[in-house]
Amino acid sequence: MTDTLTDKQKFPLKLSEPCPMVRMAGVRKCYGDLVVLDDLDLDIAANETVSIIGPSGSGKTTVLRVLMTLEEINGGVVYVDGEPLTHMDKNGQLVPASTKHQRKQRSNIGMVFQHFNLFPHMSALENCMEAPVQVLGLSKAEAKDRAEGLLDMVGLADKMGEHPLRLSGGQQQRVAIARALAMRPKVMLFDEVTSALDPEVIGEVLSVIRKLSEEFSLTMVMVTHQMGFAREISDRVCFFDNGSIAEMGEPEQIFTEPQNPRTQQFLSAVL
Ligand code: ADP
Repeated sequence: MTDTLTDKQKFPLKLSEPCPMVRMAGVRKCYGDLVVLDDLDLDIAANETVSIIGPSGSGKTTVLRVLMTLEEINGGVVYVDGEPLTHMDKNGQLVPASTKHQRKQRSNIGMVFQHFNLFPHMSALENCMEAPVQVLGLSKAEAKDRAEGLLDMVGLADKMGEHPLRLSGGQQQRVAIARALAMRPKVMLFDEVTSALDPEVIGEVLSVIRKLSEEFSLTMVMVTHQMGFAREISDRVCFFDNGSIAEMGEPEQIFTEPQNPRTQQFLSAVL
């Protein structure tokens, strides 16, 4: 695999210039023979909101999983806030960053999944306190204060003691957002967070995300099928096709004047 990599994939960029909040350079990700991300370059500035759209199977979720260090990459380099997620060993092979380094990196990044992934045996409040206590070393009192503030912010002040199964899908997803925010991440990743929800509760989750984009200094990357929402809140929209970026631009340009025939085709099928 390594001998097929380009120089850019083998040799991490020198970070002499200011690094954006997220930089993916020459990223390659394969599952066996299947190349899922192919020489992917993507820079995302601090406080920017970027939506990733595109056909199913084009690699959108894989981008988020790579950023969350849930997947190892086969080439290229990823920086989050100037820190590489991988490094080169003395033989010039790319190796994943150490577990300790990954844990630190992961706490800079919050991810919200399609299927909530809450701890079922814990209340909403306990779900939001767990990682700040276990990973950041906050006292229980500090973590509780923080969790209460965030659950209030997502409109769940009256549901803090409830366990996930007693909450609606929309409420569970709002707990998941509060839980991710409790780590004070620099980057928030949203992976099709409304796909598993009933239509009538999608709006309440989108309005929490809208509030985050307006009121918090967060860098947000969102994989979504909600084209109207992507158009409304994104600074840039990235159209993915076959493991690479086919087109990227401001929402108005992408949605009203897509240049790439694949973007045109995709949008005319989904809009
Ligand atoms: P998208 O989010 O655009 O639908 P994904 O990033 O989930 O696409 O998947 C991209 C491709 O990688 C798909 O062909 C998918 O089947 C494949 N894939 C994803 N995860 C795995 C895995 N763990 N093992 C093998 N193939 C995978």
